[in-house]
Amino acid sequence: MMAEGVVISRHKRDALVKNIKAEEISCVFKNRDISPIVGDRVSYIEKHNTFIITDIFPRISEFSRINKKGMKEYIAVNITQLVIVISIIPRPDWFLLDKYLSSSQINQFKTVIVFNKIDLGEPHQKILNQYRSIGYKVINTSVLNDDTAGLLTELSNETSVLIGQSGVGKSSLINKLGNIKKQVIGDLSRKTNTGKHTTTTSKLLSINNNASIIDSPGVRSYAPYFNNTNEVLKGFIEFGDFEESCRFINCSHISEPDCAIKKAVADKKINKRRYENFKKLFNQIEAIKK
Ligand code: GDP
Ligand code: ZN
Repeated sequence: MMAEGVVISRHKRDALVKNIKAEEISCVFKNRDISPIVGDRVSYIEKHNTFIITDIFPRISEFSRINKKGMKEYIAVNITQLVIVISIIPRPDWFLLDKYLSSSQINQFKTVIVFNKIDLGEPHQKILNQYRSIGYKVINTSVLNDDTAGLLTELSNETSVLIGQSGVGKSSLINKLGNIKKQVIGDLSRKTNTGKHTTTTSKLLSINNNASIIDSPGVRSYAPYFNNTNEVLKGFIEFGDFEESCRFINCSHISEPDCAIKKAVADKKINKRRYENFKKLFNQIEAIKK
């Protein structure tokens, strides 16, 4: 028997796979080359009541970060949208937001900024409008006031990752939107002694409106993975309108003369805070890669 499904959670030696019948199957891996990530589409077989993942289908996207050892580490794959949650308390970390946005831009994900806890007021509107003006969708939500319909619309037909500082309300939003029925098949977690303590790993949840959410653990110190400074240059969406006018085709917009980006900042066509965050990120990546 050969079947297909999507990996909805991953542990060291097994993964939970959801098949087309919405059954959740605990599977082991055929060999060391088979190392599926949450979101992977896989095929699996059954052998003596053990389910084994044999193949991973090509990925349309990969979402990664740098772990404590400085290695690239996948959070989820095949995602189509990044949902960046910010809130009133804790206060938004705008540099972190810009890093998330750059990462999303480079990966060509759809991007939504969710401003949660608006029941506590509506500060930061000027900054949020700046993000709107460069093309980002910003949605207000309140779990407390049951105001999440706008977010559900954005999640529809997408596989989204919800990220953001700890305490902004990601779990609350997911619980509010989630309508999760479970049917677990296979009992491998007992045999392999894994699959139990899953709170630190990502999970894929299916909710209403054909929406899938990757529920990722607290990512307070999350650092998106940038391969090089060129990626940072591509990460700031509003630079695209100006960079063709820089004198040098490979201008890094840091110290070159006749830089159209710096001019646009001086002319207030590019937001200064965004530009400063760009420089900070650029310099950070340059320092790491040297
Ligand atoms: P996470 O760390 O991002 O998953 O955040 P949580 O979902 O754990 O929420 C952190 C705290 O914020 C909890 O005490 C929630 O009850 C609270 N919270 C979440 N959403 C809202 C909201 O819309 N309004 C208010 N006032 N509090 C909220
Ligand atoms: Zn330039």
